[in-house]
Parts: sequence; structure tokens; C-alpha cells
Amino acid sequence: MHGWTGLFLRIDLTKSTATAEPYSEKLASNFLGGRGFAAKILWDAVKPGTDPLSAANKIVFATGPLTGIGLPNSGKLVIASKSPLTGGYGDGNTGSWVAVNMRKAGYDAVIVEGKASHPAILHVKDKTCDFWDAKDLWGKTSFEAEAQLRKKTSKLAGIVSIGQAGENLVKFATVVSQDGRAGGRPGMGAVMGSKNLKALVVEGTQSIPLANPEEMKRLAVEGYKELLTKPIYSFWKRQGTMSTVDWCQENSCLPTLNFRQGVFDKAEGINGFAMEKIKVSNRGCPQCNMTCGNVVKDSEGQDSELDYENVVMLGSNIGLGRLPEVATLNRMADEFSFDSISLGNTIGYAMEASEKGLISEKIGWGDFEAIKTLVNDIAYRRGIGDILAEGVRSASKIIGGDSSNWAMHVKGLEISAYDCHTTPGMALAYGTSSIGAHHKDAWIITWEIKNGRETYDDSKVEYLIKAQLLRGGVFESMNVCRFPHSSLGFELEWYHKYLRASTGQDFSMGQLNQISDRVLNLIRAFWVREYGKEWSRDLDIPPMRWFKESLTDGPLKGSALNLEKYKVMLDSYYRKRGWDENGVPKKETLDRLGLVDVANQLKL
Ligand code: SF4
Repeated sequence: MHGWTGLFLRIDLTKSTATAEPYSEKLASNFLGGRGFAAKILWDAVKPGTDPLSAANKIVFATGPLTGIGLPNSGKLVIASKSPLTGGYGDGNTGSWVAVNMRKAGYDAVIVEGKASHPAILHVKDKTCDFWDAKDLWGKTSFEAEAQLRKKTSKLAGIVSIGQAGENLVKFATVVSQDGRAGGRPGMGAVMGSKNLKALVVEGTQSIPLANPEEMKRLAVEGYKELLTKPIYSFWKRQGTMSTVDWCQENSCLPTLNFRQGVFDKAEGINGFAMEKIKVSNRGCPQCNMTCGNVVKDSEGQDSELDYENVVMLGSNIGLGRLPEVATLNRMADEFSFDSISLGNTIGYAMEASEKGLISEKIGWGDFEAIKTLVNDIAYRRGIGDILAEGVRSASKIIGGDSSNWAMHVKGLEISAYDCHTTPGMALAYGTSSIGAHHKDAWIITWEIKNGRETYDDSKVEYLIKAQLLRGGVFESMNVCRFPHSSLGFELEWYHKYLRASTGQDFSMGQLNQISDRVLNLIRAFWVREYGKEWSRDLDIPPMRWFKESLTDGPLKGSALNLEKYKVMLDSYYRKRGWDENGVPKKETLDRLGLVDVANQLKL
């Protein structure tokens, strides 16, 4: 096999065992890698009804045939598990040297199951595996843990770890590497915490088996050079994704005050140009020459790595317009290993609950000191923090009132940084995303606004499905960053060439889309299997705030989504995906994709 190492490493933390397991070429060509591998492993190995925070759940760290090879933006790692936040399939990707080192150690995925008897570090070095005691690191931030572990290993070692939020099983805890790269929004950090796993450290020294290493070297160099020629390259290096703040403000889709408004009166205080004034450097994932992490000095004089999502969710969405303070909250989120998107969303929910008298705590919009206290309380599950640590869906069930209408989530995952009062296509993207309300699979909002934001027609449904297949399936399974293509216009043809030099196989776009369709259908089946009788098409509908409460400010004040028209779009989406009227994949769809056993398990 070329391009893949052909081995998974299975770790049982209960027994402290490590087993290298060969996998078949068929699995590689059917699921490609990354998200594809993770979905297949979890479908096969996690029994329906498993408690996500029990020893029986598994967490998968997966790479793909393009990971770690030294081609543009290939240092990505998928982290996946049954989610404690949503109860469905959960994953996320992060840039980490773990991805590169895992491939060089000879594995395409590490599967962790069981639970260590005491806090532990998993250390993989080529074909050896050790379980280190983590008692001294338990209770430390992810930054402190990584710094300590680096002293013990090498500069090139890959390290991912959790902070106190993961240890305390906060349901939206992530996994962090390199002081600011975080992945696994739906609680992958909590799954690590539940297994007493503080960190995974990987060191690899072997070469990755490639079909044509010389050709790959040449193509990789050419690819990096090509990126430098893209017109937007230099501005991207200046602001990364931060320029989106102004674009959203201009287009009334900047989440503000818990998604009530699409404009923020202090947006200039948190936009890309405000960021440039306090920026000290760029940071990024391994093997990337268009690094998009903007490192700034925060209000406490420490480094914090900013991008659009964390700035908006911890800025306009909670009424905070001073960027150094936003940066402090963001750095705290990374240290504790919170997902910064869910954290900002949850704080916004708490502020609204406070304003409406549903909770007794006083947490005013933009009140920096109160927010810092709240962040600590959530990390350590103190007082109201203990309720909020469950995420907004669960919190709204406890706090009550009408708060389920403005608990801003889909399937339990907090909505990321786009207000959709006036963008039905983007609302559908959130509604049907593979992990709950996340933008990564289908960021169609710029296309939608350019092509008629007010319509609910089929062209949007078709565009959405195309985007989900490409971004959510193809990029996540080849396992490289989507930004060169989606933001700089790096042509898709490059990836066909890279796949050929890596695997020796020609993958047409049609074949890649079919793999992607298989992966996304398997993930859908995972949700349906887990939810059982609770499964309903209502789970694909975003919160009622976007339908029943119009925008309260800005040029589009008074606008809202139309629920009936949204439902018609959803029906069309289901038909085009080959799903029934409840959003369940039909037997013929699963059969066509070679998922006959999946159809059987769902009793279709
Ligand atoms: S563009 Fe940004 S997210 Fe993508 S690989 Fe580079 S640093 Fe990472």
C-alpha cells in the first residue's frame, strides 16, 4: 500500500496495552482517511447507547493519505468520538505535529479506548508505546502541560493535551496543541478527561510510504510557490480570517448579543485592522506557508492567537468591543481547553438569562470582570458554571423560561459565528452539518449573499450539498486544510496530483465525491442509530430565534427566516441526499454507497 501506512494503533488505557492493527486496502479506498476513517471506526466499534464519558467510548486521532507529507497545509489531525455534548457523532480537526509524527511513526490513526486508573500521558515513539504518569500535570493548563512535556521530549515531538475544562468534563472541552490550536468542538477534550488521558505525545522518525516520492517533492515545492502568487496571499497573512468581521458587519450577519442582531456598534474595535495594531506575529499549523493565527498581546500582556470565530463569539456576541480583553478571554479558553465558539455562545446565553431574570447571577453584556469569573466557574464547574458546562441545550432545559428559543444550538452543538436571520441557505448548512451547528462543512454564506440572500430555492440546496461533499468529506478525509482552496483559490487539480503521487491511484472528482457521500451518510446513520426513537427532522431546524424574533438592529432590522419555506428547503435537501422525509438515509442510498450492513443495522 502506498500513501497509507496500513496500520492503526489501538490503545487500551484500562489494560495499558498497545496493538498495531493492519487494515485493508478496501477500507483505505472506501473511506480515504481522516474523518472517513474516524466515522468507520466509531460506527463499527462504539455500541449504540454507549455513555460518551464511559470507558466504553473510543476516541480516534486520525490522519489521511495527504497528511504530514510536506505539501501545503498538510499538518492536520482529526479527533473524533461519540460526543458528550450532542450524543451523536463528534469530531474536529486541529493543526498539530501529532499528525506529522503519527504518520512518521507508521500509523494512520490512533484509537484510544478504556480508562486509565490514574492520570496518564500516552507516549508513542515509532513502534514503542509508553504510559507516563500525569499526576504532576493534572490540574495544569494545556499550555503548561505542553511546555513540561516538551522538556521531556524533543522540539519536533507532536503534543496534544487538555486543560482543566477537559479534566472537569465540561461538555464543550476541546483538545489543544501549540498554545492555541484547538480541535474537537463537541467535547473531544471531555472524552480525553473521562479516560484520565491528559495528553498524547507522538514522535516519529520513519519515512511515509509514497508511490512517487520524487514527484511529490517537486509538486509540494511548486504548490507552496503557487500559493505565494495568489492575489489575496499578502492580505491573508496580515489578517487571516479576521477580515470577515467587517464583511459580516456590512452584511448584517455578525452575531451580536446572543444572535439578536447582525451588527455590532463596536465592531471597529474588534475587526482585522484593530487586530493588526496589537499583532506581534503569525502562528499556524505544521507544513503551512499561509499561517492564519494572529498572535496579539492581550490585556494582561500575554500572547493570544486570534481568528474570526473566537473574536466574534467572545466579542460582539457577548457585547465586548475591546480586542485586548477579547484576546484575554480567548487565551483563557485555550489554556483551559474550552471550545472558544461554544464558550462565547454559552456566555451570551447566560447574559440573556441574567438580563431576563431567569438566573440570579449578574452577568452584564460586555462586563469583562464578570465574564472572567464566569469562565473560571465553568472550567471548575462552580455554581451556575456547573449548569453552563453542560452546554446551552442542557442548560436551557434546567434554566427554563422561554430560553430554549434562544439557546443557540443545533443538535446540542452551539452555533458558530454567523447570524442567519437573513440567510436561509446558511441556516440550512447549520441545520444539516455533520456534527451539529458548525460552519466548517459548508461555509456558503458569502456565495448566498452574492446570489440572493432572500430566496429559498433549489440552487441553494444544490450549492450546499456540493460544498458539504467537498469540504466536509473530501478535505476532511484527505485530511488537509481547506483554506488554500476555499480562501486563496488553490485549484482542486493540485489535490488530484498529490493523491496520485501519494497513493499511486487516480481519484477523479466523481470518485472523491462518492467517498465523501459514503462518509457523510455513515455519520448521518450514526446520529440516527444513537438517537433511536428520539430522532426527528426537527433536529435539523435551527433555533426559533431566527424564525420568530426579527433582527433588532441594523439595516435589515425586522427581518427573520420563514419557517414554512425553510421546511420546504429541508425536504428538497433530503430528496437530493437520498434520505426519507425524516432525514434518514434510504436503504437504496446506503446500498448504492456499499453500506448494506449499515442499512441492516438501522433495520431499513
Ligand atoms: S491556513 Fe490556517 S488553519 Fe490552515 S493550515 Fe494554515 S494555519 Fe492552519
